[in-house]
Amino acid sequence: MRRFSAFALAREAMRGHSGWTEQWASPEPRKTYDVVIVGAGGHGLATAYYLAKEHGITDIAVIEKGWLGGGNTGRNTTIIRSNYLYDESAALYDHAVTLWEGLSQDLNYNVMFSPRGVLMLSHNEHDRQGAQRHIHANRLNGVDNEWLTPDECKAYCPPLNISANTRYPVIGGALQRRGGTARHDAVAWGYARAASARGVHVLQNTTVTGIRRSADGRVAGVETTRGFIGARKVGVVAAGNTSVVMDMAGVRMPIESYPLQAVVSEPVKPCFPCVVMSNTVHAYVSQSDKGELVIGAGTDQYPSYSQTGSLSIFNHTLDAIAEMFPIFRRMRMLRTWGGIVDVTPDRSPILSKTPVPGLYVNCGWGTGGFKATPGSGHVFAHTIARDEPHPINAAFSLDRFETGRFIDEAAAAAVAH
Ligand SMILES: Cc1cc2nc3c(=O)[nH]c(=O)nc-3n(C[C@H](O)[C@H](O)[C@H](O)COP(=O)(O)OP(=O)(O)OC[C@H]3O[C@@H](n4cnc5c(N)ncnc54)[C@H](O)[C@@H]3O)c2cc1C
Repeated sequence: MRRFSAFALAREAMRGHSGWTEQWASPEPRKTYDVVIVGAGGHGLATAYYLAKEHGITDIAVIEKGWLGGGNTGRNTTIIRSNYLYDESAALYDHAVTLWEGLSQDLNYNVMFSPRGVLMLSHNEHDRQGAQRHIHANRLNGVDNEWLTPDECKAYCPPLNISANTRYPVIGGALQRRGGTARHDAVAWGYARAASARGVHVLQNTTVTGIRRSADGRVAGVETTRGFIGARKVGVVAAGNTSVVMDMAGVRMPIESYPLQAVVSEPVKPCFPCVVMSNTVHAYVSQSDKGELVIGAGTDQYPSYSQTGSLSIFNHTLDAIAEMFPIFRRMRMLRTWGGIVDVTPDRSPILSKTPVPGLYVNCGWGTGGFKATPGSGHVFAHTIARDEPHPINAAFSLDRFETGRFIDEAAAAAVAH
């Protein structure tokens, strides 16, 4: 694989860019692999990459029913932050932010990580108390988070309306300066390219239709639309389709799948310098490098496997955006789409071994797993390679829904997820 560098760019510019090779290989599947990963989203591809890089396991296939990154990875609003309340969550998400900071160099691929700061607004006393509880807890965990007054919020994000006479008055905000955004497609492409360079097979347009178990109950491989593929170990990283795939192995998951939407506006010149989130009214906004406003909302209220969502959710979100940022009132929205998010009862992910020997699952990221992509892949690779969790994901086991040791970020956020 040709490395990207200023020298390589200059050389290719001189010869009409004829020397670039394919970013990743598209091989025919082998009959068996050491490890099969189901799902070529960011988490599945990152798992394969770290298995190869950190554990020397390269006999891996990542099997994807569509195109890589075509699930939630290529559909999200790209917000990255680690200011979660509980110690376990802070450790997991901050591990990811630390990896984000060096990811472009590690992958030799520009994932456009932009730590422009994430400002989470408070509109009432309940919000303020919740935000300050998070700030104190984050500081104890070494995670940056600070309280801004309304004037400081305005200075950080000039388009914000902080007048008291509004439907959603801003009484302050919690700012994580290390938070920000990254280019979601580039994350999938960068991991695929780097994994492929280490010998990983990425098999697109190949659907897993069954999970085969041997007589002793151990996983033996997967049935696919391109035939049976044997594997010593199988990692399921299928986001909104997790329940369907795990059911193939007879494992019932504590997951509900909901549509979650995003919308982008027409592009305008740079005018929005950071990410602003309002959990209470469920509206998030940032500006992409192309100039579009990237706006996110809450999930639909009903479980579904549809990749479009309800119009009512967007009406509400755009109402709120127009109220908080009056300069956007006359912007036209260009596109909207949805993804299927996998939601657990405590709104925390599952990165775990399963009751089936050789079968592992990484899911339950719900509305917020993009930010965790590098950290998730890193600790899940450890779990698969060593057959035991990394200390960072030990608490995110499947059996917490039997033992009751929840990591209840849903209640901690005090908003409908
Ligand atoms: C609209 C929206 C906005 C979001 N905003 C944010 C945000 O701002 N910040 C944030 O942190 N998170 C956000 N998220 C959540 C985030 O996108 C996800 O948590 C994350 O991308 C999950 O990554 P993944 O690799 O696990 O899943 P995916 O990218 O969905 O990958 C799973 C893959 O599995 C494949 N698959 C499923 N079944 C099979 C099968 N039977 N055979 C083969 N392949 C299969 C799918 O095709 C898919 O490509 C958002 C999500 C959505 C939908």
